[in-house]
Amino acid sequence: MSIEVRQINKRFGDFVALDDINLDIQTGELLALLGPSGCGKTTLLRIIAGLETPDRGSILFHGEDATDTHVRERQVGFVFQHYALFRHMTVFENVAFGLRVRPKHTRPTDAAIKQKVHTLLELVQLDWLADRYPAQLSGGQRQRIALARALAVEPRVLLLDEPFGALDTKVRKELRRWLRRLHDEMHITSVFVTHDQEEALEVADRVVVMNKGRIEQTGTPEQVYDQPATPFVYQFLGDVNLFHSRVHEGWAEVGGTRFAAPEAGDKAVIYVRPHEIDIQRIATDKALAGVITHVRLLGATVRLEVNVAAGDPVEVELTRERYTEGRWSVGEAVWLSPREARVYAG
Ligand code: ATP
Repeated sequence: MSIEVRQINKRFGDFVALDDINLDIQTGELLALLGPSGCGKTTLLRIIAGLETPDRGSILFHGEDATDTHVRERQVGFVFQHYALFRHMTVFENVAFGLRVRPKHTRPTDAAIKQKVHTLLELVQLDWLADRYPAQLSGGQRQRIALARALAVEPRVLLLDEPFGALDTKVRKELRRWLRRLHDEMHITSVFVTHDQEEALEVADRVVVMNKGRIEQTGTPEQVYDQPATPFVYQFLGDVNLFHSRVHEGWAEVGGTRFAAPEAGDKAVIYVRPHEIDIQRIATDKALAGVITHVRLLGATVRLEVNVAAGDPVEVELTRERYTEGRWSVGEAVWLSPREARVYAG
């Protein structure tokens, strides 16, 4: 089912939580709402769900205005960060719950419920836990059960609010791959909220980057990462070094490396990702001189922090091989030159 978000505005007192939000969500799409804490992601998700009313604007489900449709009639399934499983019910009963509370004339028979619950538990690969209680499950297992429970009522839309937020990194990574595979099997239109850019880029078909109640950019993971529409998107999607420069004849420069500058203004800010910087030991007039002050191992890559004469320390990321070959160490004098950059008016 497609969802259209039209000119949605929402205030809490004087505070503008959502400022004119427009968004088209395609049928069967897995969409991520990504942004820092407080940017309005959850509020937007709750408005789509029908748990919150907008001050202005409308929500269309499959082309029909659903703004005033009650949450129960929207046929949405939810999964929240803090697993809201019923503690006194077994896994089986948790998943069956949404079917059991249906009005009598639409309620499936006990046999049909039993079969459906087992099918769903197989889908989330936890059929063997049917008789356990939530307290006897791991965090990751609880989230998968929460998802099975949300799917039981055959929602037209699945809404997930930081579904893996409370879990440790390794389990999170497993679950997001699993969510992607599950979505590829089910094709339910799904929207999930996250503040973790890696999670959004890895899992979603499209990413909506939000900031201060507005949408900064909507695009595929490649688009938002490779062609950020605004400095905010660039900074939010990965670590970045900023260099301030005066603009001369259409160029801005870092050390001696020149980049085409935007037309507006005589100042520019040059954004360079840590892995886009070359480091060497030989001085050239095209490079920025500095001294290595920290070395941090990040697994497959290594981050060097380099103090330069003017401006903030520069982060340089090398592959493990380049780092080992180069034998870089703290205290060494080095020269830096950016290979790539994006330049915005400063
Ligand atoms: P987080 O990742 O921290 O959950 P978020 O992007 O999901 O952040 P929202 O929960 O949508 O942000 O909140 C947006 C802003 O609106 C926040 O500043 C929040 O304090 C405020 N807000 C949300 N709900 C209410 C409410 N019921 N009353 C007053 N202010 C609210």
